[in-house]
Amino acid sequence: MSTKFDQTTIVNYLKNYGFVFASSEIYGGLANAWDYGPLGVALKNNIKNLWWNYFITSQPNMVGLDSSIILNPAVWKASGHLANFSDPLIDCKACHQRFRADKLIEEKYPDIKINENTDKAELLKIIKDKKIVCPNCGKADWTDIRSFNLMFKTSQSVIEDKANELYLRPETAQGIFINFANIQRALRLKVPFGVGQIGKAFRNEITPGNFIFRTREFEQMEIEFFNYPKDAPAKFEQYIKDIEGFLFNVLKLKKENIRMSEHDKADLSHYSARTVDFQYNFPHGWAELWGLANRTDFDLSNHQKLSGSTLGYLDPETNERFIPYVVEPSVGVERLFYAIICDAYRVEPIKDGETREVLGLPYALCPYKVAVLPLSNKLNDGAKKVFDMLIAAGIPSVYDVTGSIGKRYRRQDAIGTYYCITYDFDSQKDECVTVRNRDTMKQERIKISEILKFLGK
Ligand code: ATP
Repeated sequence: MSTKFDQTTIVNYLKNYGFVFASSEIYGGLANAWDYGPLGVALKNNIKNLWWNYFITSQPNMVGLDSSIILNPAVWKASGHLANFSDPLIDCKACHQRFRADKLIEEKYPDIKINENTDKAELLKIIKDKKIVCPNCGKADWTDIRSFNLMFKTSQSVIEDKANELYLRPETAQGIFINFANIQRALRLKVPFGVGQIGKAFRNEITPGNFIFRTREFEQMEIEFFNYPKDAPAKFEQYIKDIEGFLFNVLKLKKENIRMSEHDKADLSHYSARTVDFQYNFPHGWAELWGLANRTDFDLSNHQKLSGSTLGYLDPETNERFIPYVVEPSVGVERLFYAIICDAYRVEPIKDGETREVLGLPYALCPYKVAVLPLSNKLNDGAKKVFDMLIAAGIPSVYDVTGSIGKRYRRQDAIGTYYCITYDFDSQKDECVTVRNRDTMKQERIKISEILKFLGK
């Protein structure tokens, strides 16, 4: 049984079954932009709902937020994004392709120790000393390296000038920091507490790619958890366990496809005291799935300084004001989506040398939990009643009459539908249907009146 597929196989599979389409396809597409079809949006919503339930609703000290994408530009000054949120850009003078200088080196010489803080002169020296050539045209004729800020610029009002310049948020986190005082006061929350948010983020990546792994528009699920400074390291450890619990027990990802990587001190972002990445073994190799950072008091302190507002917290015990330390787990919905698909998709042999495609999702993630399949068109009336009962009960279900029953099973297996309910000629008499399990392919006869109870289990 094979479980590992290349990217092209996954992209084609997701397109054929209505999960992910290349965006703007009828106009020749738009590079690295993707649209989520009916099954894709169902899976995405399931991921987001599970995350929200696990990290927010089921926690005693968590609340949610939905902040704006476009914020006052001062936010990005205080957060350091205007000064620091950039990648080292280098151009090939021969073919005019642009690259991230650090990635050029990492791809050719993974053992050379560089990180996001390595300065531009050093990166250029390595590229020249090692005579790294342009991956596009094979020449070694490079420009100097410039810092390229990844924030998307836009402008507000009718006049497009510097004064009206704004940015699309490159992370959802800052929306939480700037609302810290509002949330704490309005809900009379006591530190420690946390705020979670799901929303779009935008980064003008120099080299997007690897399907939905790196795109310029994506969705983040972020938490900023506000702690007494001394408690932040323990909260960090707790989040390592919580993230593992979510990945392995809720999403049921395979342990061998996940690993943890601790950032060296030299590799920490400007705001971080400690960062751990959870990496997934994607078709293009191990890469970051989920980041966990101890952001200290960096963001709240800077917003307090620049805005002049008080963003500290008055300790009710000691009556002393302090700035909480923040622990932040941050994950992209699309990267989780991609990891889930890579983990769950399999092609397995069945009888007579045939194979079947299966998307082995856990029940909670399945776009459709149930497919209702009448054995013949003549049975539509009775089968439709079963389908209507499921829909009315809020169970995502699909009705399929097209093709042989074997073909319909194959199709449902391929999109991850957990149960197929077949309504046959006996069903009219005995008020029973056959329920087939996607993974075991075992079938059992169940009374129609018992179906909801069966699914409830
Ligand atoms: P990378 O090193 O891969 O660029 P990052 O360290 O810049 O990622 P963070 O700033 O920590 O990423 O963002 C948090 C999460 O948001 C990442 O772990 C990832 O899941 C997601 N993410 C970040 N950039 C992108 C992108 N361009 N496309 C899709 N998801 C992204």
